[in-house]
Amino acid sequence: PFEVLVVGGGPAGSSAAIYAARKGISTGIVAERFGGQVADTMGIENLISVPYTEGPKLVAAMEQHVKDYDVDIMNLQRAEKLIPAASKGGLHEVRLANGASLKSRTLVLSTGARWRQLGVPGEEEYRNKGVAYCPHCDGPLFKGKRVAVIGGGNSGVEAAIDLAGIVGHVTLLEFASELKADDVLQKKLRSLKNVEILTSAQTTEVVGENGKVSGLNYKDRDSGEEHHVTLEGVFVQIGLIPNTDWLKGDIELSQHGEIIVDARGETSTPGVFAAGDATTVPYKQIVISMGDGSKAALSAFDFLIRNSAD
Ligand code: FAD
Repeated sequence: PFEVLVVGGGPAGSSAAIYAARKGISTGIVAERFGGQVADTMGIENLISVPYTEGPKLVAAMEQHVKDYDVDIMNLQRAEKLIPAASKGGLHEVRLANGASLKSRTLVLSTGARWRQLGVPGEEEYRNKGVAYCPHCDGPLFKGKRVAVIGGGNSGVEAAIDLAGIVGHVTLLEFASELKADDVLQKKLRSLKNVEILTSAQTTEVVGENGKVSGLNYKDRDSGEEHHVTLEGVFVQIGLIPNTDWLKGDIELSQHGEIIVDARGETSTPGVFAAGDATTVPYKQIVISMGDGSKAALSAFDFLIRNSAD
């Protein structure tokens, strides 16, 4: 069995594996796809001390860093079921889709999350070519330009407020007849001069020209009329879905499906830790996930030295 088994090979999992291995304890990492969301990212400009890198380059560097240590890397393997240890300090079991079963004294769960997509024509085609999901990451790329934010919940309205300070103009589109964000955010949004709010607006297509976003089409759900908005960027803010379905019933999750962790990264189950986008940690970013992964691994190490019963 492993002493630390990391499930998930994104920034959080890579960091956890490196920190665990550096303690000289047996460490494994199982990942459906090593690199996680970073593998789908183009430019990255907010990884501190690295002014610019690109997703695939960062994934290769993370993988090489993990390989510098004695870590058992099991890539292209999906975890399907967690069976927590029967008693504190006992062995947890992780069952994989291929039928194999891994045992470990501690776990670091870092299976990440994925952005909910609109599912309209043009969204996939223009992803990273004007269609974006992360205002903290891609907002500055649209400095002075016109963008849309789709989604009128807290994350959409926060994104619109954030972007309004960077871009030229923001159009916020909400499918329902009113915004769902907290009143204080709505009030702030309405006070901004370069923001237009459209409710009962169903985005029907992202339109592009010369390989880049040039606008979007939406249907006014009250009148049934189709409209076009000319713009350079579309931020989709209709939810971030944690990859935690496989944990339901075995680990405590928030109402949004995030793994509930304390300040040390420990979950509801002793010896099971979690890190990164899959958890309740606020703000989902690469640097945050990396810090979180190292914290979870250090907590796992601390758990091991306190619970070495046999
Ligand atoms: P992830 O990166 O999601 O990794 C999860 C890992 O778990 C993957 O290896 C996955 O295959 C694996 N996994 C999932 N389910 C299972 C399972 N059942 N069994 C085994 N393995 C599993 N952040 C920034 O800081 N700067 C940026 O510029 C930036 N740009 C972004 C652009 C895009 C398009 C996207 C989608 C995200 C961007 N982000 C950016 C956010 C950043 O990528 C995430 O915050 C970060 O990757 C989260 O790391 P993580 O390790 O928690 O999860």
